[in-house]
Amino acid sequence: MERVYFDNSATTKVDPRVLEEMLPYFTDHYGNASSLHSFGRDAYDAMELARERTGNALGTAPRDIIFTSGGTESDNLALQGAAYALAGKGKHIITSMIEHHAILHTCQFLETQGFKVTYLPVDAEGLVSVEGLKNAMTKETTVVSIMAANNEIGSIQPIKELAEVAKDGGALFHTDAVQAMTKVPMDMSKLKVDMLSLSAHKAHGPKGVGALYIRKGVKLRPIIYGGGHERGLRSSTENIPGIVGLGKALEIGMSEMEDSVAKMSKIRDRLIEGTLDAVPRSYLNGPRGEKRLCNNAHFRFDFIEGEGMILHLDMKGFAASTGSACSTKSLEPSHVLRSLGLKHEECHGSLRLSLSKFNTMDEAERFITTIGPIVENLRKMSPLKEGVDYNVATVH
Ligand SMILES: *Cc1c(COP(=O)(O)O)cnc(C)c1O
Repeated sequence: MERVYFDNSATTKVDPRVLEEMLPYFTDHYGNASSLHSFGRDAYDAMELARERTGNALGTAPRDIIFTSGGTESDNLALQGAAYALAGKGKHIITSMIEHHAILHTCQFLETQGFKVTYLPVDAEGLVSVEGLKNAMTKETTVVSIMAANNEIGSIQPIKELAEVAKDGGALFHTDAVQAMTKVPMDMSKLKVDMLSLSAHKAHGPKGVGALYIRKGVKLRPIIYGGGHERGLRSSTENIPGIVGLGKALEIGMSEMEDSVAKMSKIRDRLIEGTLDAVPRSYLNGPRGEKRLCNNAHFRFDFIEGEGMILHLDMKGFAASTGSACSTKSLEPSHVLRSLGLKHEECHGSLRLSLSKFNTMDEAERFITTIGPIVENLRKMSPLKEGVDYNVATVH
C-alpha cells in the first residue's frame, strides 16, 4: 500500500535538495561559526549565505534575520522581547483568538507578568477584522501579533491592512508566518510588518530551526542569555546544518512558489468538492477561494468523532489530522474551531487535510473514494446519531 501524506501543516518532508546541501555541515564542515580557524570560517560563511537566502525570501537585508530553534522560539522572542523592551511605554498587547499556542500561551504568560492582552475574535470564516483591531488599539498598546495564515483552517489574514493599523497606532506589528511562508508572498519592503516568525520544517526544511525577521531599528529584550550570538538576541552555538537547510528550503520554496501554489490549489479544490460530494452532512470550515491557504482543506462531519476517522484513514494509508497536531492529545475541542462559533460537539467531527507540492491529484481521487465508506461505517457505530441529544451523548 502506497501511503499518502496529507498532514503537511504538522510537518513536511525534507526536500532531497535541502538534505544534500545540509549533509557536508555534519561531516566535513562541522566547525563552530565563532571559531577563527578555517573550520569556523566555513561554518560562518554557510550561515551568512543562509541569512542572505532568508533575507531574499522576505525581501529584506540579511542583517534583519535572526536564526532560532523554530517557530515557537521566534514567536516567544518577538512577543516577550518586544513586550519587555517597550514596557516603559505601555503594557497592552493585541492578538487574535485563533493564534498558534506559541503565541497564545506566551500571551497568557505575559498576563501573569502584568501585561494586558486583548484577544480579537474572528468571523465565521476565521478572519480578523481590521476595524476590530482599530477599535482595540489604545495608547498603551505596544505590540500587535496576528498570524499570516492559520494552521488549522487555512484562513489568510489581511496582514497588510492590520499592520498599517498597528503602525498608525504607534505599536509594533508581528506576524507568525510559519504556515504562510512559501505559499503567500511575504515581502517586507511592501508590508509594514516589524517582526515575522518562520520555521523550516513547515516548508520542506529540517525540524528545530527557524528565523525571526526584525525590522531595522526595532529593539527587543533577549529571552536567552549566554555567549551573545545573533547580535545578543539568541545566544547558543548556531545550528549550522539546520540553518543551511532553512536557507536552502526557502530559496527553493520561493523560486517554485508560483508552480507549487497552482498545483496545490487545484488538488485542494478537488479534495473539497469531492469530499463534500462523497459525504452527506459534511461541511467546509474556513474561507473559500483567495482567502484560504492553497494547501488546506478542513471539514466537519456530523455524527463523527475525529480521532476514530483519523485511525481508519491511517489503516487505509492516509495520514491526516483532526486539526492542530499540538492539541490532538487533549480532548478539549480546538480553540480555533470554537472561535468560529462552532458548538463543542460540532468540533469533534473535524478533519484537516494539508498538502505539499509532493502530493498528486491521483492521491486526492483515492482519498475521495475512501472517505465516504469510512464515514458511513463510523456513523453506523456512532452514539451521535440523529435525534440524539448531543449534550447527553458526549463522545468521551
Ligand atoms: C508549527 C507552527 C508553529 C511552531 O513552529 P515550530 O518550528 O514547530 O516550533 C508556530 N506557528 C504556527 C502557525 C505553526 O503552524
